[in-house]
Amino acid sequence: MSELRDEIAKKLGFGCMRLPVVGGDTSVIDDAAFCRMIDTYLERGFTYFDTAYPYHNGKSEEAVGRCLVDRYPRERFLLATKMPVWLVKETSDYDRLFAEQLARCKVSYFDFYLLHALNRESAAAEEQRGGFDFIRRMKEAGKIRHIGFSFHDSAEALEEILKAHPEMEFVQLQINYYDWESKKVQSRKCYETAVKYGVPVIVMEPVKGGTLANMTGEAAHALDALFAGKEGAKPSYASYAVRYAASLDNVFLVLSGMSDEAQLLDNTSYMQDFCPLAEEEQQAVEKAVEELAKLPVIPCTKCRYCVDDCPKQIPIPELFEDYNMTVRFGVNEINRNHYAMHVKGHGSAADCIKCGKCEGHCPQHLGIRKLLETVAGTFGEVPKN
Ligand code: SF4
Ligand code: SF4
Repeated sequence: MSELRDEIAKKLGFGCMRLPVVGGDTSVIDDAAFCRMIDTYLERGFTYFDTAYPYHNGKSEEAVGRCLVDRYPRERFLLATKMPVWLVKETSDYDRLFAEQLARCKVSYFDFYLLHALNRESAAAEEQRGGFDFIRRMKEAGKIRHIGFSFHDSAEALEEILKAHPEMEFVQLQINYYDWESKKVQSRKCYETAVKYGVPVIVMEPVKGGTLANMTGEAAHALDALFAGKEGAKPSYASYAVRYAASLDNVFLVLSGMSDEAQLLDNTSYMQDFCPLAEEEQQAVEKAVEELAKLPVIPCTKCRYCVDDCPKQIPIPELFEDYNMTVRFGVNEINRNHYAMHVKGHGSAADCIKCGKCEGHCPQHLGIRKLLETVAGTFGEVPKN
């Protein structure tokens, strides 16, 4: 742990899964905006960038190559990416995909490299195909400095992997205060399993895909009360969520998928001289969780694992977010317009043919088909051209 902690000057990592884009097209990164964000992030003393093969329809790694690697000396930053294990059909695919990633990112080595999104099933498949062996060999060859995996499954499944693979140097877990006691996500149990095996943790989704940055009502009041009577700028709701995850002893890095400069400035402001949550902040967060649990929003993290196989090209996470906005603020022109924009040129919630291909990919185990019925009922028919 201390070795990894020493390498990472500040605990906030730049997640490159929700970068600024041009014209709402997630495949077209806004390079100028991304470059400005990188500059500020590095100027403020942060160093860690996290990308992956599928992010932004395969364009995130290339954007990192253009906007970061081309513009800064290699030793100025730490770069992490991940093996898309679901694309590996035979052993030679590991070499091909890894070479492609080095080329996309324009580097000769990765600082951190992960087997992407393991669960009990995919870990067993990697055991057979040789994914664990592959990353160990790449480390021995000097092409990876630290090996680990990202994970979405039960604490028991995590324990099986950690027991079988003591060579794993870190694990990336979905941890946020909303999911801490969740039976599905098992943030607390997974974290405690990593502690038990002495494996340091990188946190992903600390703000639950943005959910914890947009609170209203009683949950917001619980956090706002912390600021009552104080002067200056009120801390953002996201700040409590990121600091909550970063306050855990065995966490050496918290990733935040940053989409614009305002978000970056906010995140880096409170993480520059990081302070763990104080007791009263911890209590306020617990109160907010109680209030949030009362709101029937869809707990989609926008990971997008569900979208590629959908025969109707339904932008599932966007439509879920549009629906969640109606839960928080009622059906209004803004969220109706967002919905219409999202279904333009794609399938709408009403177009779902209930084939179920999406649901097997969902790390949150959401009943996507049923939820899309609710979304369709909320927004009704909209023009798609
Ligand atoms: S069940 Fe619906 S949303 Fe899911 S993949 Fe099939 S058509 Fe797409
Ligand atoms: S529905 Fe599930 S798989 Fe799809 S984006 Fe949301 S959390 Fe990810």
